[in-house]
Amino acid sequence: MARGMQITRISVVEFGFELADLGTDYNGFNSVYSPGSVRRATGHVLLVETNEGITGEHVGGDRNTYAQVGQVAHYLIGRNPLERERIYNDVKRALRKVDKFGLSAIDIALWDIAGKAYGVPLYELLGGWKRTLPAYASTLHGDHVRQGGLSSPEAFADFALQCREMGYPAFKIHGWGNDPDDAGYIRREVAAVLETRAAVGESMDLMLDPACEYDTWADALRVGRACDEASFFWYEDPYKDGGVSAFAHKRMRELIKTPLLLGEHVRNFEQHVDFSLAGGTDFLRADAHYDGGVTGLMKIAHAAEGLGMDVEIHAPTPEHRHCMASIRNTNYYELGLVHPHVKTTRPPVYLDYSDDLGAIQGNGHVPVPQGHGLGVTIDWEWVRRHETGRVSYP
Ligand SMILES: [Mg+2]
Repeated sequence: MARGMQITRISVVEFGFELADLGTDYNGFNSVYSPGSVRRATGHVLLVETNEGITGEHVGGDRNTYAQVGQVAHYLIGRNPLERERIYNDVKRALRKVDKFGLSAIDIALWDIAGKAYGVPLYELLGGWKRTLPAYASTLHGDHVRQGGLSSPEAFADFALQCREMGYPAFKIHGWGNDPDDAGYIRREVAAVLETRAAVGESMDLMLDPACEYDTWADALRVGRACDEASFFWYEDPYKDGGVSAFAHKRMRELIKTPLLLGEHVRNFEQHVDFSLAGGTDFLRADAHYDGGVTGLMKIAHAAEGLGMDVEIHAPTPEHRHCMASIRNTNYYELGLVHPHVKTTRPPVYLDYSDDLGAIQGNGHVPVPQGHGLGVTIDWEWVRRHETGRVSYP
């Protein structure tokens, strides 16, 4: 098998779909609950075909990602797809002037090929052993829908209780952010932290992710002190430095007790190591789609292991379940974004896989796919019906 394997063709299929009851918040960026609204969205499937009839598939990425794939397609055609480490390093160098999301998409598809070629699920190639993973309910951003929305601290507290009832061991708040029309937004963020803890007691781990919304370091510190009071498990990307200033977060770590989680916006392996050594975070964030694929994510996980740190994987996907199944120094799978009245925030692109609110088992865990490669089945009939464009190389 393996030895003579070659990449023969790379295709990117773009599809369009609609998400019910979703709109955007004040700045037009964050998705929020909006009953009766329909949000139009675009998705992509990457296909890497080989001369042995095995095709690597990856769902994810945006137009910028696939512009980068186009830039390196000529290099990939004819390569052995099993030489992932070489391809990772060559493509990393080729894309050194941009964010390298294209490398991430390619690498994930190559791991899918490897799993299919060797006839095992991806986590087995990585030396994984976990069959299920403890998950946290990661909410949509706060909204302003009085009836049934996440429009108040009490609404977050109630939703946390609902999630605990379902079996979730942990819950993460994405607050309202910095609405310029709302002078009291920091007080409301603090109230959401304190009221959610008061509602669930000690029975859940709680996290807060302002997603870089707060304007000032001082506001971030104020909310961090509320996280201390409420014994939060972590405090993530608080303010508008964009989650990249090691210096600022080192100073914040000196003033609050709650562990910080940074790294979602620090790109790739080497920068994650630098950021950690500079004292910028307690937990390290990593994401296969942002950080050089499964190869890049596992390098970050092992670097963190060497520093005695935990790595927490961002956002839910099949590839992330396989990685987490194979990493010791990690705690929770991010299941989201969820809301009491939004059915899904993702395209229904798989026949046998979901990351929606109900995807957990009774013990609050999600299963790790057991099929070969990524171990999930794409609903090609649905993708073809929603196809809006396709590019192939050559
Ligand atoms: Mg985040």
